[in-house]
Amino acid sequence: MTSQRSRDRLVRQLRDMGIESETVLASIRSTPRHIFIDEALASRAYDNTALPIGQNQTISQPYIVARMTEALLEAGDLDKVLEIGTGCGYQTAILAQLARRVYSIERIEVLLAGARERFHTLNYRNIKAKYGDGTRGWPEHAPFQGILVSAAPAKIPDALMEQLAVGGRIIIPIGHSGGQKLLSVVRTRTGFVEKNLDPVSFVPMLKGTG
Ligand code: SAH
Repeated sequence: MTSQRSRDRLVRQLRDMGIESETVLASIRSTPRHIFIDEALASRAYDNTALPIGQNQTISQPYIVARMTEALLEAGDLDKVLEIGTGCGYQTAILAQLARRVYSIERIEVLLAGARERFHTLNYRNIKAKYGDGTRGWPEHAPFQGILVSAAPAKIPDALMEQLAVGGRIIIPIGHSGGQKLLSVVRTRTGFVEKNLDPVSFVPMLKGTG
């Protein structure tokens, strides 16, 4: 159930669904998603579905993780990436294989603790994760070439726009549950250029810490 065969099957499904980036597919193939979820759900770890991770939150669907990561990589090589909504840490682990350094913020302390433990167990050394409100970004480490947001605000927080490098991009779901859209926003020398990707369904981005 948690074998390489089930991971290979998932990768084939993602390819069929339109994911083209070989680097993204390779990182999905090599990342043990079953380590990021409850043991009771391990048999479904390589299904292309979102699953509960406790605290009313979910691990994102593999297709969405792949789609967002692929969209983020359009900016070219990634040096520093900021992620909002660490959750169980699966998306963080995927990013850690594709960027030099990943900064991740989570507002629910027990989820952050679980994710940190997994990063340690799996030996990801280029992830720095903290407990806090991601709507403020992480100014000490800005600017970021990429920002990936896994919870949906009503509008893009100003701090995240400010902390994006010129030429960098932010991938973010926007809107209320039932009607969210995934946006890719590139920062140019003179402003921001927005592209609409897919309709999506994320948990809401909440202010403050949980
Ligand atoms: N990529 C994660 C997604 C988890 S769900 C995974 O696959 O596990 C989204 C996460 O965003 C939740 O853990 C939620 O607590 C977190 N979140 C919501 N609002 C936030 C905020 N303002 N700052 C930081 N994290 C936030």
